[in-house]
Amino acid sequence: MIDYIGVSDLERLVRAIGTGSFIERLSTEIESDYRRWDEFEKTPRSASHSPVGVIELMPITDGRLYTFKYVNGHPKNTSEGLLTVTAFGVLADVHTGYPLLLSELTVTTALRTAAMSVLAARWMARSDSRVMALIGNGAQAEFQAIGFHRMLGIRTLRVYDVDPVATAKLERNLRSIAEVAGLEVVRCGSAAEACRGADIVTTVTADKKNAVILTPDMIEPGMHLNAVGGDCPGKTELHRDILLAPNARVVVEFEPQSRIEGELQQLPDDFRVTEFADVVRGSARGRAGPDEVTIFDSVGFALEDYSALRFLHSLLAADTAGRRQIDLLPELVDPKDLFGGTIGATAAVRIRRAG
Ligand code: NAD
Repeated sequence: MIDYIGVSDLERLVRAIGTGSFIERLSTEIESDYRRWDEFEKTPRSASHSPVGVIELMPITDGRLYTFKYVNGHPKNTSEGLLTVTAFGVLADVHTGYPLLLSELTVTTALRTAAMSVLAARWMARSDSRVMALIGNGAQAEFQAIGFHRMLGIRTLRVYDVDPVATAKLERNLRSIAEVAGLEVVRCGSAAEACRGADIVTTVTADKKNAVILTPDMIEPGMHLNAVGGDCPGKTELHRDILLAPNARVVVEFEPQSRIEGELQQLPDDFRVTEFADVVRGSARGRAGPDEVTIFDSVGFALEDYSALRFLHSLLAADTAGRRQIDLLPELVDPKDLFGGTIGATAAVRIRRAG
């Protein structure tokens, strides 16, 4: 039997802690895993592209635990009543190769993306940041809002989406969450209006093209940009001149993957960037001064899902009442007798087993 976390289990685990606290605790786990960056065997994710989307596998190991995530990105899905991003993943024991946990990762991806965004902003944004623009008000938006309010002290959210229904949904949800009481939400008529007066700009839009959500005229000295939505080839959100500006600092998760998928794909191979692991380990700075424009070119890296799966598995230890397991693997008296212990089992064996 292996542990199983379905969507309803995840809801129970998060509600027991609170969404903001879950994001905060997960960001601590992610940071501690980034600190031991060199222990991980890392690879850019494997992507299978179609004209309308992408399906990706994201493996990683530290030699003790192995995880992978299956994730898709299909921006047209919402027009068919489906999510743009869905995911599930596995945590496995390297010693035996046995999976330990099969988990939903759709909601978890939104939680971990928010945790990673806020973690990066803690190292990169000005500490007096209080106003954030949130451009793209779809599935990921509330998670970002809760994370930034709780961990960074964001007091005003300037929201914009080309779809006003998505913005209305975001406003409605934020009004109903006690954890963000006191967060002022300002609806804006354009991305440019949302950016006005913002200390942090989070872009989390979905479109399978080189979109230009932010242009250089919207950027003020000292801003931090959290560019989340551009995360696969041919899918970006920032005008390239924002990245090329002399006062810009670009931080990525795992450079080989970000060169393929991030905003970085717009720039030459010799454009210099910093890996986030170097920032948390103190060998690079997240921000050099108050006027720098810091850019977290987020694409989502396997290490963050490793942290999330490890964290979720640890929460199950205290969740004795709700803990669920599934028979994903055969449990055999004789491990060489796979046939006799499963489909070839006699009625007597089955009765014994059932008893
Ligand atoms: P979603 O489809 O639920 O929401 C996207 C929103 O963006 C929609 O409401 C859409 O109307 C809006 N939008 C599209 N073009 C816009 C524009 N030009 N200006 C303003 N709004 C615009 O998708 P989601 O699940 O919220 O994901 C958003 C994006 O984030 C996707 O591209 C996804 O691949 C990406 N993502 C990245 C990470 C990461 O780690 N970097 C993790 C999860 C999702």
